[in-house]
Amino acid sequence: MFNSLSDRLTQTFKNLRSRGRLSEADIDATVREIRRALLDADVAVPVVREFTRAVRERSLSAEVSGALNPAQQVVKIVNDELVAILGGQTRPLHLAKTPPTVIMLAGLQGAGKTTLAGKLALALKEQGHTPLLVAADLQRPNAVNQLSVVAERAGVPVFAPHPGNTSAADDPAADAPLIGDPVGVARDGVAEARAKLHDVVIVDTAGRLGIDEVLMRQAADIREAITPDEVLFVIDAMIGQDAVNTAKSFADGVDFTGVVLSKLDGDARGGAALSVAQVTGRPIMFASTGEKLTDFEVFHPDRMASRILD
Ligand code: GDP
Repeated sequence: MFNSLSDRLTQTFKNLRSRGRLSEADIDATVREIRRALLDADVAVPVVREFTRAVRERSLSAEVSGALNPAQQVVKIVNDELVAILGGQTRPLHLAKTPPTVIMLAGLQGAGKTTLAGKLALALKEQGHTPLLVAADLQRPNAVNQLSVVAERAGVPVFAPHPGNTSAADDPAADAPLIGDPVGVARDGVAEARAKLHDVVIVDTAGRLGIDEVLMRQAADIREAITPDEVLFVIDAMIGQDAVNTAKSFADGVDFTGVVLSKLDGDARGGAALSVAQVTGRPIMFASTGEKLTDFEVFHPDRMASRILD
């Protein structure tokens, strides 16, 4: 991902390097090329506008510094602004003072939520936590199975209405949550985590193919029922321009505390995903980079900016 954007920006800076001093016209020409590269990479128009305005202004007023030549200064400014649109700093997961930390996942169907649930559970387990996965996605018949498979691969337990409801399996007399009531499953899952002393509980919720009111209502109801410490919005970086509108709808409909960019290993242009933090004002916290449970990283805005400008 971002290869083409990266190539375009690198080329722009290469052209700049042959210049000793930079005139206003040189800077304007550079900013125009940057604007085109960002738009071609699907970065959202308002984000491009603000980005190029800041780069132009700062480049024009850049002091001649001993350490950096003019071209290097522009590269540094672009780097700083990229870090800024990606959210500035790395935002770690907030853990609850009193366990369990409740993490809810939201996003469209196919965004990569279930996979992410497994990745996050594995990463947390490796840090010494004891996560429980909760299958509150009752939309698709196979979703519960998929989460159970992912949980098994991660080596963590799953709380699911059917099949393999861990509470029912452990205790045949226990009431299994009703199939078809995702809010109830989510609530019972969190209660189960509390009862069995899991210090983190990750609740997978249903997505649909597109934004719809029923989906948003359900996610909002789950949120209200379990008062999560984190709501992570998972977005497929391959969906291009739709990413921004989808993110805005989820920000309005469910609200979320952080973003997970998934499928960053794909070869789509990726710029829309780069716009999501800026457009929603929520930080990108993790990146999903493949189908294996270990294809998962904490998102560092500065490292991503360097990767793009490398
Ligand atoms: P959900 O509907 O949001 O729960 O999405 P899933 O977790 O089921 O993922 C949908 C598809 O995308 C599955 O085939 C996953 O294997 C695949 N997938 C998920 N995350 C990634 C990723 O980071 N990279 C790639 N290449 N595929 C992924």
